[in-house]
Amino acid sequence: SGGASTDSADSSEGGTAEAAEQKLRSNQEDPYVGFALDTLREDRWYRDKDAFEAAVEDQGGQVKTLAANGNQDIQIQQARLLINEGVDVLVVVPTEAEGASEIVSMAHDAGVKVLSYDRLIRGADVDHYVSFDNEKVGELQAEAILSQAGEGTFAYVGGAESDNNAVLFREGAMNVLQPHIESGDIELVYDSYTEGWDPVKARENLSSFLASNDVSLDAVVAANDGTAGGVIEALGNQAGEVPVSGQDAEVEAVQRIVEGTQTMTVYKSMEDLAGKAAELALSMAEGEEIPAETTIDNGKGDIASTLLEPLTVTEDNIEETLIDDGYLTESEIYGN
Ligand code: BGC
Repeated sequence: SGGASTDSADSSEGGTAEAAEQKLRSNQEDPYVGFALDTLREDRWYRDKDAFEAAVEDQGGQVKTLAANGNQDIQIQQARLLINEGVDVLVVVPTEAEGASEIVSMAHDAGVKVLSYDRLIRGADVDHYVSFDNEKVGELQAEAILSQAGEGTFAYVGGAESDNNAVLFREGAMNVLQPHIESGDIELVYDSYTEGWDPVKARENLSSFLASNDVSLDAVVAANDGTAGGVIEALGNQAGEVPVSGQDAEVEAVQRIVEGTQTMTVYKSMEDLAGKAAELALSMAEGEEIPAETTIDNGKGDIASTLLEPLTVTEDNIEETLIDDGYLTESEIYGN
């Protein structure tokens, strides 16, 4: 009976299958973009996914997104899958800057160009990089914290060292802090990356440092809103007295800014990034030359790059930035 039902399904859906095949063939003309995401842990990556898919489709392409759950081996498998499916261009948010270089060789062997998205793939001949000015992000974080606490005992809570951005955020922050460290105004007592950008690890690491050292912190530069959340928990009843930075304009973080436990966040418009990336990816799929606005060294060479401007958000400009831009609504933030 199994055979009979299969037969009848085949014959009754013959017309539909043919139509589907027809549609597939006509769509095959459209540039096909593969989007390989590291993770969907932070809210921002959902926004990247939605905005990028919409922008590619609006601009006449097709797109398939896969997310690797923070695992570089899975990301490599997913990239292979997308290449085998015949994507014309691969857009990658690498899980690990170095580990993802294998994706670039795989893609190039298949004649597929690679656009590094938000995070730079290192040690490989990446075709283009699109992101924000990430060193600037770190500078904005440290500047905002310095304006609240000009001196004292500081901590730096970084992201995942395997993410090139985390290294750039730290470099930017240190550009700003270093002169104050040298003059003795600031003592940097804690300086640590956070494996996998994991907020729980950020909290545990800082808590155990505070428990085993007789120090009290005057300020914390945290690399993103996730780690900031962990830091604020670790500060316990000192939360609100110690300035803490963040990044990503996550709704929970903006609520903490309103409550006064977090000082600032950095807003990076995913609409702008995804729109730019879609435009670049489709040009690359068509084999067009992309002019390099700037270049960034990734250890293999100078990679042509397009960098957008990040913005500081404090309680004073939530309205003009996040709300006016439609990134968050007043009721999401203030709950009314
Ligand atoms: C991104 C940040 C994000 C972090 C963790 C970084 O590469 O630039 O926006 O918070 O990864 O996902």
